[in-house]
Amino acid sequence: MSTPSAVAARRVFLGDRFTPATVRVSGGVIAAVDVFDEAADIVLPDSEVLLPGLVDSHVHLDEPGRTEWEGFSTGTAAAAAGGVTTIVDMPLNSIPVTTTAEALAAKRAAAAGKLAVDVGYWGGAVPENLGLLAELDAAGVVGFKCFLSPSGIPEFGFLDTAQLEAALAETAALGSILIVHAEDPAHLHADGPVGRDYAAFLASRPPASERAAVRTVIDAARRTRGRAHIVHVSDAGVLDDVRAAKAQGVALTIETCPHYLTLTAEEVPAGAAQFKCCPPIRDAANRDALWRGVADGTIDAIVSDHSPSTAELKSSPDFGLAWGGISGVQTALPALWTEAHRRGVPIERLLPLVTVGPARIAGLGGRGRIAAGEPAHLVAFDPDQTRTVRARELEYRNKLSPWDGRMLRGVVASTWVNGVPAYRRGEGILARAGREILGEPATLAG
Ligand code: ZN
Repeated sequence: MSTPSAVAARRVFLGDRFTPATVRVSGGVIAAVDVFDEAADIVLPDSEVLLPGLVDSHVHLDEPGRTEWEGFSTGTAAAAAGGVTTIVDMPLNSIPVTTTAEALAAKRAAAAGKLAVDVGYWGGAVPENLGLLAELDAAGVVGFKCFLSPSGIPEFGFLDTAQLEAALAETAALGSILIVHAEDPAHLHADGPVGRDYAAFLASRPPASERAAVRTVIDAARRTRGRAHIVHVSDAGVLDDVRAAKAQGVALTIETCPHYLTLTAEEVPAGAAQFKCCPPIRDAANRDALWRGVADGTIDAIVSDHSPSTAELKSSPDFGLAWGGISGVQTALPALWTEAHRRGVPIERLLPLVTVGPARIAGLGGRGRIAAGEPAHLVAFDPDQTRTVRARELEYRNKLSPWDGRMLRGVVASTWVNGVPAYRRGEGILARAGREILGEPATLAG
């Protein structure tokens, strides 16, 4: 399939609504958005809408070092198949973790030639590199990630309150952002076996842990005036504090994930470790409250937190012993759209949260929009077709999914990355036209 110079559709998502249009592409970039042109190289069938490629600012690719967990090749293929054309890789669980410029160089070397979609990198802020973040910033990370509780791997330590404040002051001085895994260890039960019953695992990571940690981040952001972002909010009980902080002008954004918005604790089968993540999937009432946070704009982005491990590490039926992390980059769009549709939330309301929302958090400018001058990242999506997820058919290295066997609404028909056909339903991955995204160092920041 050759690189198109124009893609036309009766329904093209332009910012906030669908309009008949033609997207003209030149040199991998959107050259113009014109009126609908029947003679365009590609005219989508009326059943399909044309979307901007999704942006997912929370993906763990785990390469180099834990490539048996995922990897640039499989992880970016899954993204392309899911309609995600830009991802930002987390600083763990690769070996080394991305906490030094040398580690970032190792990651970039490992990525070369494997990218099916565009990839940027988060750096890590850990006790050992506080005061040294400028070097990693200059090397091209888009921002910094830290934990307030144990990360799951000993080589990526967590920050105490004083260190959090120091890190935020440092990232603020760099014109960067600090994104925070917000669970307070004082409220978490000790690691260890809890059995096959999901309720016991849920009780071990109570809402109080998120509420306390989010307050800690809000206080630190207020004092330092640094830009802070809370990753993977699970407990809707934090939303009131977040609303209040935003209203007071604290530079705070938050994200949640498809698993928190589409799954519930009540339906997790005994011993089903593919549902385990931290913080945990909570009850149905909590899920409803998260959707209210989506509707009123308190939640700024929805991202996958695609965090695989080997099937072996997920094989324990004891929720305390299995690895915590959900694979979801490929199923995010249909999973979210299925639940949104069920709730009467129009797709026009959902799309900004999976496109421009995450792009803004990661400092990726106008990505996630179909507009002249942006990379030609396009997705043909059939919003009415349904399909049953089969985990074994996913592009992941380890084919585990909590959505396995579920009938989801919406099918990605084609994905274009930098103007190149990258994925087509039934044919799979067609090209690896993804590019690296390097953040601008502080001296060049606007
Ligand atoms: Zn994560």
